[in-house]
Amino acid sequence: MQESNTLNDELVRAETGIRHQMERYAETGPYKLNPDSKKVDKVIKSLAKRKLKDGHQYCPCRMLSGNNEIDSKIVCPCEFHVEEIEKDDICSCDLFVSPNYKSISSQIQ
Ligand code: SF4
Repeated sequence: MQESNTLNDELVRAETGIRHQMERYAETGPYKLNPDSKKVDKVIKSLAKRKLKDGHQYCPCRMLSGNNEIDSKIVCPCEFHVEEIEKDDICSCDLFVSPNYKSISSQIQ
């Protein structure tokens, strides 16, 4: 019980740190956090789990190769998000979006 509480505390701390980092990145950079806060929460939780499990906040939607140099490219914000957002207005995990991004629900309304 004590061990699971400690793990949960570590996860919450990791989530808080990653959330601050991603908010700062969105405030100072060209991209925004997805307006769907549930998606943001989910990705941040997944990033925190990867950080505790694998040592870094590796992209939750990509596999580790085992090669540190290659894997460093998928530490969030990854090397690929710029190209993905330029192309689709959203990164492959749905965390960051372009300022022009329109969510599907806002397109339907
Ligand atoms: S795809 Fe998005 S969430 Fe995944 S690492 Fe890149 S920027 Fe982060």
